[in-house]
Amino acid sequence: MDPPPVPPPHVIIFPLAAQGHVNSMLKLAELLAISGLRITFINSEHIHHRLLRHAHIQAHFAAFPDFRFKIISDGFPIDHPRSPDHFMTTFNYVKSITKQLFEELVSAPDRPVTCIIADGILTFTIDFAGDLGVPVIAFRTISASSFWACFCIPRMIESGDLPLKGDEDMDRDVTSVPGMEDILRCRDLPSFCRVADLSDQLLQYVTTQTLQTTAARALILNTFDQLEGPAISQIRTQFPNLYTIGPLHSHLRSRLSSSSPSPSSASNSLWKVDRSCIAWLDKQPPKSVIYVSFGSITTLNRHDFTEFWYGLVNSGRRFLWVVRPDSLAEGSSGAVPEELKEAAAERGCIVGWAPQEEVLHHGAVAAFLTHSGWNSTLESVVAGKPMVCWPFFADQQVNSRLVSHAWKVGLDMKDVCDREVVERMVNEVMGERQEEFAAAAGDLARRARNAASEGGSSWDNLDRLIEDIRSMKPTS
Ligand code: UDP
Repeated sequence: MDPPPVPPPHVIIFPLAAQGHVNSMLKLAELLAISGLRITFINSEHIHHRLLRHAHIQAHFAAFPDFRFKIISDGFPIDHPRSPDHFMTTFNYVKSITKQLFEELVSAPDRPVTCIIADGILTFTIDFAGDLGVPVIAFRTISASSFWACFCIPRMIESGDLPLKGDEDMDRDVTSVPGMEDILRCRDLPSFCRVADLSDQLLQYVTTQTLQTTAARALILNTFDQLEGPAISQIRTQFPNLYTIGPLHSHLRSRLSSSSPSPSSASNSLWKVDRSCIAWLDKQPPKSVIYVSFGSITTLNRHDFTEFWYGLVNSGRRFLWVVRPDSLAEGSSGAVPEELKEAAAERGCIVGWAPQEEVLHHGAVAAFLTHSGWNSTLESVVAGKPMVCWPFFADQQVNSRLVSHAWKVGLDMKDVCDREVVERMVNEVMGERQEEFAAAAGDLARRARNAASEGGSSWDNLDRLIEDIRSMKPTS
């Protein structure tokens, strides 16, 4: 008698409950599902509801019968705004609430578990799963360069680069992040480093989590070798088992187009997408529009919001601007001046949430004014669009420096929010330096697409990751 068929490996995927984290980990989950792996994706209740409503996630993943969602609480009441001000609370709730729910779920799985791919900012998973004999692979959703900078925080403290010594210290070169000596100034470090007191809770949390990642069986990063070579070679010295498999959205598109039958790539959007902006873009001349979006969690105060308004209007360029219902920080109310509204009616389009990947690939869009979130940065890289960067927090300070200084595909206006600077930089990327930036961005886009196509470095690394998972023994 033939032995019973061996079931495919079962992977539990566990992201931090935030748009950028869930978005890229869902893309990874889909890539693994296409390759025939069984997936359990752990989602927070809040995020799952929004994905059901706005991204039709259940229908999308119905194409994979072995794909399941499990829902657990992130600790917040369901209707809480979950803004970046609550970052530390998020991690405290992870410790006090989500951790236990995760452990209950993994201790009594409904099918044997081969491995866990956990968000690298949730390293409590490593010890716990280790006790059960289940390997954990860490996935960090930030750039390799930011991850490496966070990894080097103890070295920066030891060398005296940290703590920062106030505003006048911000342009000093940082010398204690190997491989990045020519890139990073103090102002380009992850925003958690901007504290005078090194016992700061968030700085401590991020540092500890990053160092503890070395205990994982392997590390996955959403980047590709040619994009962040210096940081990636340094990370390899600490993490020999490193899989650089990005840009994930481009990689997913490549694999979907070579799989048959091919489900379409999902938007994974937590907001209601307003497609009217595509109809508006269709009516604009080629390469005439600057697309403006600050991602899913950045909030602007009234001063910054007004400066962007005037800067965009005074640039004289056409613009498509995403202003989410919660884009203005709490307590920053006030009416938009009539003159701005009139100018916007003539050459602007404002929506609450855009289909960003599609917008960036639209022929009318010339450039992207962005907060430099890692997903947005990668989406712009793949679409070959130059960027003007206004980083807000976390890894964005590093990413914007890569754009302006390492890849030279745009400008970085970090730490300044002034209408004249906005006007000048928008006109530089759309006007006098347009060709220079567009050529560099086009070249980078080709490299990104090659990496994520058959025979490319990210494609090969994903194949290697899947082989590694297939060689693991499931626990029952
Ligand atoms: N996004 C979108 N429509 C919008 C604004 C953002 O689809 O109007 C998506 C964008 O494509 C990206 C994600 O939201 O995938 C934002 O992630 P990112 O890492 O750039 O920033 P975060 O929101 O985490 O700050």
